[in-house]
Amino acid sequence: MHDLQSLLNDINQTLISYEDRGVVADYIPELAKQDSQSFGMTVATVDGQVLSVGDTDVPFSIQSISKVFVLTMALGKIGDTLWKRVGREPSGSAFNSIVQLEHEKGIPRNPFINAGAIVTTDVVLAGHKPKETIGEILRFVRGLVNEDAIYIDEHVARSETQTGYRNAALANYMRAFGNLDNPVEEVLGVYFHQCAIAMSCSELARAGLYLANGGVNPQGGIKVIPPRRVRRINAIMMTCGHYDGSGDFAFRVGLPGKSGVGGGILAIVPNKAAIAVWSPGLDTNGNSKLGTVALEILVAKTGWSVFGA
Ligand code: GLN
Repeated sequence: MHDLQSLLNDINQTLISYEDRGVVADYIPELAKQDSQSFGMTVATVDGQVLSVGDTDVPFSIQSISKVFVLTMALGKIGDTLWKRVGREPSGSAFNSIVQLEHEKGIPRNPFINAGAIVTTDVVLAGHKPKETIGEILRFVRGLVNEDAIYIDEHVARSETQTGYRNAALANYMRAFGNLDNPVEEVLGVYFHQCAIAMSCSELARAGLYLANGGVNPQGGIKVIPPRRVRRINAIMMTCGHYDGSGDFAFRVGLPGKSGVGGGILAIVPNKAAIAVWSPGLDTNGNSKLGTVALEILVAKTGWSVFGA
């Protein structure tokens, strides 16, 4: 068995001098303030080890990684009827694209592009006030890690509310097709706040463990979701978790993964571990550039790709 901690240290050493770090997201002004030199990586194993290197205690904006948690909650609320309102096919277009929505009558391709996540947020919001729903999402994520310090960065939420014209367009468009039940402003309010959840790599890796462990959170043994649902969420992470870069991520890393424009990636090694990596510089698809390289090296050395060593 390889020594995971030395492997993480080696990855950090290799990447420290990397210059090609991509570009920090600037369409949400608050995210543009991030330091592109930040880098952290945590591996949390189902048998209780938590190994880290770099800036793994620094909270960052998880952005679209929140879509995994909100999908989990939406499925918990309405089960498979969710699939009448959102598909499960890769979109082959950008995370904030509107083009397919017209052809497909307001049904987003999958729950991990913005339009799809706005639908899962609408499902979780049903019957509640936006504030209650934001609280419910935060409580769910905190509960996965047993860490009440996880918070919502109000500056990021406000910054995105002020500039989220594309998301407003997507939401209005879907509402016109009857695929949003709640008022657009309320759904967007919740969506922007879930994206603004701030977590460190060490917290995020632990939060993802239920997806590596058949739906049971190994930290306390709580059953979060049934195994069948884990399998399906992991499948969607593999095929859709990196937008138009999902094929490339499968090719290079070969793990279910979900990226966010804050520069984080959550990757799942079924039955073994959850990995969180953070480096704010993004590639043209909005996925962490160095984060992907780090995962690529880790998987090459461990043989952890689901497609074989
Ligand atoms: N909050 C971001 C947005 O809606 C999330 C996008 C992302 O992380 N890819 O634009």
